[in-house]
Amino acid sequence: MKNIAIIGAGTMGNGIAHTFAQSGFKVNLIDISEESLNKGLTIIAKNLDRMVAKEAITANQKQDTLKNISTFTSISEGVKNANLVVEAATENIDLKLNIFKQLDSACSKDCILATNTSSISITQIASVTSRPDKVIGMHFMNPVPIMLLVEIIRGYNTSNSVTKTIMDLSKTLGKIPVQVNDYPGFVANRILMPMINESIETLYHGVAGVHEIDTVMTLGMAHPMGPLQLADFIGLDVCLSILRVMYDGFKNPKYAPCPLLVNMVNAGKLGIKSGEGFYDYSESKKADKISKQLIK
Ligand code: NAD
Repeated sequence: MKNIAIIGAGTMGNGIAHTFAQSGFKVNLIDISEESLNKGLTIIAKNLDRMVAKEAITANQKQDTLKNISTFTSISEGVKNANLVVEAATENIDLKLNIFKQLDSACSKDCILATNTSSISITQIASVTSRPDKVIGMHFMNPVPIMLLVEIIRGYNTSNSVTKTIMDLSKTLGKIPVQVNDYPGFVANRILMPMINESIETLYHGVAGVHEIDTVMTLGMAHPMGPLQLADFIGLDVCLSILRVMYDGFKNPKYAPCPLLVNMVNAGKLGIKSGEGFYDYSESKKADKISKQLIK
């Protein structure tokens, strides 16, 4: 496995591209938006610069990593030689089903199709392809170059050999893969999102303010980041999409998104990426400071 295509150059896509390229894979990074591709490449270069400054990699390794990445705005062009595609486009089921239909016709018949979805059914995504045995969830954590975990989600029809290939590949990237089954939210978000949603409910009911809630969880529970700050970091739109998938999937009111979260997303307050969420990131320095703390 040598050629990897990544669909989506956003928060996750550029981190996934960085990680594969740094491990010596040839990466085609594909996005419908030229602007997202340019922004993605700029972020990768900045994160590599930080690694060079910390002597985690050499300047030559930075150049080699960047040389391994090519960009495309066309899926059919970008996936031509791919042995593996990792889809990391926007968390929207119709969009993902449409992308996987395109991938199925554009990719070679042996190509494995992985998705970085946070919550959408792998089995449903696989059902629109002619190769459900080769469709799998490869759920990287944010920020991808730093976080060790990859949640590997087996769809109903994912084969043992494809699961083993992707588990082994994750180890080659220096990650620690954990295999889970395909139910809404998988493991990571099934546990994390109710906590984030409950933190927003706590704020909504006026029990405490943003800073107080996050301080209770950082100092009291030794979490590295408060749940509201984490929600800003993940993206409030992403949190809302995941909660909706779990609410629809389980029909259990405990997953119903807090009305405050819905309102904030409708108002365009999406967290770090929009400049404001539970915290204000309007001064670019502030957001940069947070990412510097994370990309250590
Ligand atoms: P994002 O909004 O930062 O980026 C999405 C990118 O997809 C954008 O650049 C957009 O232009 C591109 N895109 C949209 N439609 C496309 C298409 N048809 N073809 C190619 N590119 C397209 O989103 P993100 O936070 O990077 O999330 C991507 C995926 O990763 C989602 O499935 C999300 O659930 C998952 N995820 C997110 C996080 C997180 O912390 N943000 C963590 C784990 C998994």
